Amino acid sequence: MAKRTKKVGPAGRFQARYGVRARTRVRNVEIIQKAKHVCPNCGHQKVKRLSTSVWECRKCGVKFAGGAYNPKTESGQNFEKMLRGEAELPTKETEKPKEKVAKESKNKIKGGKE
Ligand SMILES: [Zn+2]
Repeated sequence: MAKRTKKVGPAGRFQARYGVRARTRVRNVEIIQKAKHVCPNCGHQKVKRLSTSVWECRKCGVKFAGGAYNPKTESGQNFEKMLRGEAELPTKETEKPKEKVAKESKNKIKGGKE
């Protein structure tokens, strides 16, 4: 079958409505969302989206949680790195925000004098 839409892809169903930017965003999301992804369990390109952030492999049947529109998100991969100990966990900084607030209030006072 001939390719019906050259550049708008799945957003072609909106025709001329909703503006270029919104349609481009929908297109970029839906292409990844509807594609078949590589399974983390068996390695076959058979993972499809069941629901929001629920992904299932049509080959081995494994079901797992991932991103809402992409089985692997950047933040998810960063978190996996932290769990493996390859990246540092974000440290709790309780004193810094107070310092920032103090500095900001000082700047405000200075600004008021000028
Ligand atoms: Zn699989």
